[in-house]
Amino acid sequence: MPELPELEAIATRLSERFNGKRIESADVHDALVIHGMTPDRFISGITDKVISSCTNDGKFVLLNLSTGGSIVINPMLAGRFRVADAGRKPLKRDVFTLQFHNDLLSYTDSKRMSRVYLVVDDDFSAVKGFEGRGPSALADNLTEGLFLERFKRFRGHIKNVLTNQRFITGIGNAYADEILLYAGILPFRRISTLNAAESVRLYRAMRDVLSRYRKMMMKRTLTELAIEKRDFLMIHGKGGGICPLCGGRISEVTANRFRTNYCQTCQK
Ligand SMILES: [Zn+2]
Repeated sequence: MPELPELEAIATRLSERFNGKRIESADVHDALVIHGMTPDRFISGITDKVISSCTNDGKFVLLNLSTGGSIVINPMLAGRFRVADAGRKPLKRDVFTLQFHNDLLSYTDSKRMSRVYLVVDDDFSAVKGFEGRGPSALADNLTEGLFLERFKRFRGHIKNVLTNQRFITGIGNAYADEILLYAGILPFRRISTLNAAESVRLYRAMRDVLSRYRKMMMKRTLTELAIEKRDFLMIHGKGGGICPLCGGRISEVTANRFRTNYCQTCQK
């Protein structure tokens, strides 16, 4: 699942390649993933439009059109962007393809869980999970003070709160585990049990870990980002392995299909 570091890098790569370019034609290959309108309306709404910018907003990627409006994509678990040579035939996993003068941008999703919208007039009400979200986890204005103040309004297990987009946006299952390792806090603790020093440590670990991984992702090409190789992760997905901080054994718990990894020595 792409999270904030990957999505910022993806938006940057898409911008470099497609800003100022005209969508000569568009095709929808998997209508299930297009929400809020028919594929025909989606296609006619974007054909001949110029991409003005590509941005990310939490877990969404936006392809903004120079005439107003945006293609809004929530990649969920398996949505991927790929650039191909113009004229390539559609592949089985393509959701939609955008034909530019010399390039083809394909958006694929092997799990068919993505949600793709065409938003006009800044009306995001149809986009599931877009409104009512918190600030981005790396937003400049998300100060330690604001983080702590927002944190107090939530209840439950700390990992669930960190990945709750209504609290802050951009953190998913993998980076939450990484952040909690560096903060030294167990994922299943209730946030009401954290003392002031632990809350501050959590904020700092979140900013440090996400900034570091964003820096790494920014060096990757769109193709590399589509492969989503995360061999650099310290603890997530490493159950039974060795904790890089203490040399102890990494624990693993799976709940609701989501895996959580943690170190019983480093995290309290
Ligand atoms: Zn450890």
